[in-house]
Formats: sequence, structure tokens, C-alpha cells
Amino acid sequence: MNFQVDETNQEIRDMVRHFAVEVIAPRAKEIDEKDEFFPDIVEKAGELGILSMELSEEEGGIDCGTLASVMCNEEISRASAAVSNVIGAIHLHLGLLHRFGSKAQKQRWIPALSSGKQIGGFAITEPDSGSDAASIKTSAVRSGDNWVINGSKCFITLAPVSDMLIVLTSTDPTKGVHGLTCFIVEKGTPGLKVGPKESMMGQHGVPVSSVYFDDCTISKENMFGEEGQGFKIMMSGLDGTRLDVAACALGLSQAAFELASNYAANRKQFGQPIGNFQGVGFMLAEMATEIEAGRLLLYRAAQYRDAGIPYTKEASMAKYFCSDNAMMHTTNAVQIFGGYGYSKEYPLERFMRDAKICQIYDGTSQIHRLIIMRSVLKEYKEFTCN
Ligand SMILES: Cc1cc2nc3c(=O)[nH]c(=O)nc-3n(C[C@H](O)[C@H](O)[C@H](O)COP(=O)(O)OP(=O)(O)OC[C@H]3O[C@@H](n4cnc5c(N)ncnc54)[C@H](O)[C@@H]3O)c2cc1C
Repeated sequence: MNFQVDETNQEIRDMVRHFAVEVIAPRAKEIDEKDEFFPDIVEKAGELGILSMELSEEEGGIDCGTLASVMCNEEISRASAAVSNVIGAIHLHLGLLHRFGSKAQKQRWIPALSSGKQIGGFAITEPDSGSDAASIKTSAVRSGDNWVINGSKCFITLAPVSDMLIVLTSTDPTKGVHGLTCFIVEKGTPGLKVGPKESMMGQHGVPVSSVYFDDCTISKENMFGEEGQGFKIMMSGLDGTRLDVAACALGLSQAAFELASNYAANRKQFGQPIGNFQGVGFMLAEMATEIEAGRLLLYRAAQYRDAGIPYTKEASMAKYFCSDNAMMHTTNAVQIFGGYGYSKEYPLERFMRDAKICQIYDGTSQIHRLIIMRSVLKEYKEFTCN
């Protein structure tokens, strides 16, 4: 790895790599096969400070920055993309609480989520509103000191095990994106119903479900951020979580590449290692190059975030590039393993199933190309060649 990493970040990454190799990797196959959530691993990550690593010291974190955080999530994904997904989701909730939570909300939720003992979910998507997130219909209407939520959300990561949800609602449909507002809805609130866990292609063990709001009444203290600030909160959260998804994708590419390279160097056909055939060896050469390129994109976006430089375009570049590559690299790794790649005896087929979702959630690969396209057109509108 050519990127210069300072000593502190290297120590943090080594600690997380040790945790990933010793604790997570031995469980990865079982988690996939049983499709069961893994609260013990999340709590252990909490004890090690992995969940709260980006928070300030007074909030119980180590303030290590986003670069260290994505390097760690890459290590975790190399062992299990499902665990990486959950840790990325917790980073998202803690980051949002840090930036937008009221004092009481911070006190209530930051220690609980940082420890891994309680879990949160972020509910944006609805049956008729996916990529076009601003078109959500779930409404919140003021009633005295309360707000009443009606509507439904789908595909909400961790909803079946969540103690709280941050929910994006429409509080004023006449104001478009400025009429969207977030609320915290706690588990057990009357009118909140969490649907059954859904069956998904990959990243098994991460429970996902729909949630329904039927006159779900919450206090005005549960407003998260200010009224009308919901879209801004969502976008700010998604920029950060896209880096975690890129890290997850990168970890999958790395894991697939390592196994495929080792296999190609040892598996013999026609009297020689299959890696000597350019049809196979070139796949490895391309993987090696694209993994490095993705890593540089991701680390640059993380460094922008750490430096307070706008990084929306850079996050989109890293997210779609690493995700599309993870899909291609894991598919090629299955190909290099031949029939053994298709067998559940080896983890390659799991990597391939786990990679697919990286191209879909937190903005599809098409939506990220749109974000980059708009940014580039704006940037170069006044360009003159001199
Ligand atoms: C496992 C899983 C976990 C998830 N977790 C969460 C969560 O925790 N919280 C949450 O709120 N949501 C979550 N989602 C929802 C996810 O973010 C959405 O599925 C995603 O944003 C895409 O929305 P959609 O599925 O409605 O697809 P659509 O928006 O209907 O898109 C369908 C296809 O059309 C393409 N498309 C759409 N618009 C355009 C365009 N303008 N230009 C080009 N192509 C376009 C898309 O790229 C896609 O290929 C999750 C989904 C899954 C599957």
C-alpha cells in the first residue's frame, strides 16, 4: 500500500485489523449462513472504541478523523462486509447526533449507540420514493406540543433491532426540500410498527425491514435538527456514509483479490499455474490497479472531510468507483476459482452477493454519476482555455 499513513492511524488500523482477523473473520461464514444479527460483535466493537472513533473526546470518542475510520472499515469488510455495513450505519447515526442532535438527544443516544448496546436506523426510503428521496410522502403534522407521523418506509437497515429511528418526514409539502424535517422515533412508541425482517441477496446478518407510522405521536422534543432542515441533514449524513460504503466495497475487493491471486499462483492446469495465462493474470493486474486507484479516491475524499473541504463529488467518485469495482472484482475472483468459486465451500460467492448492494444503497451508482456530472458541468461552465 503506497499511501502514506501516519503512525497513529497505522496503530488504530492494526488494532482493528487484529479484531477483524481474530474475532470477525472466524464468524463470517456462520453469520452469512444463519442470517442472524451479531450484537456481541457490535458490543465488542463498542468496547474497543471502533463505533465512536470519530467523536470528540468529551463525547467519548478518540477524534481520530474520517481517514482512520474508513481505513478501519476497509479492514472490517475484508473479514465481513455485513459487520462493516453495521459499523458504517452506527458511524452515520453518531455523526448525525454529533452535528444535529439537541443536548438532550446527545446525552440520551450518543453513549448508548457508541457502546453498541443500543442500535439506531435512518429511515428515508419509501415504496414510491427511492433515488428521488425528496419526493417522500410520510407526513408529520403538528398537534399542540406533539407531532403526528403517518406513512411508511421500506428497506430500513437495522430497523428490526433498532431502539430508535431517525425518520425523514414531510412537514410542509408546499416547500419542497425545505419542507422536510427529521424526527427521532423511539422503539415502542404507539403507532410505530416494524415489519418482519426481509430476505436479502447478500450481507446476511444485517436485518432490514419496512416501518409503518399510524398516527405515531411524538413530542416536539423529538424533532431532530430544525424544522425544514431534514434534507440538509439527510445529505450531510449520506456524504459521510458513502465513504463507509466505499470502504466496505474496497475491503471486499481486497479480500477477493488476495484469495484469487493466491489461487492463481498455485492452481495448475495445462502443467502450469493458471495465473501464467494472461486471461487470468491480466484480471489480477487490473484488480491490483483498480484497488489502489479506489483506495486513493477514498482516502482523498476522507482527507477532504477531515480538512473541512466540501467533498460531495469526491465521495460520489469513491462510492461508485469502489462499488462497481467490488462487483467486478468479486465476480472475476469467482471466475478465477472456476467451479470452486461457485461452491459455498469458499467465500468467493458470498463476496459477490455482498458486493451487489454497495452499488444500490446510499445512492445507486447511476445517481453518483449524476452528482459528479452536475458538479463537473457547473465547475467547467465558465472554463476558458488559456
Ligand atoms: C439492503 C438494503 C438496505 C437499505 N437500507 C436503507 C436504509 O437504512 N435507509 C433508507 O432510507 N433506505 C435504505 N435502502 C434503500 C436504498 O437506499 C434504495 O433502494 C436506493 O436509494 C434506490 O432506490 P430504489 O430501490 O427505490 O430504486 P429506484 O430509485 O426506483 O431506482 C431504480 C433504478 O433506476 C435508476 N435510476 C433512478 N433514477 C435515475 C436517474 N435520475 N438517472 C439514472 N438512473 C436512475 C437507479 O439507479 C436504479 O438502477 C436500503 C436498500 C437495501 C436494498
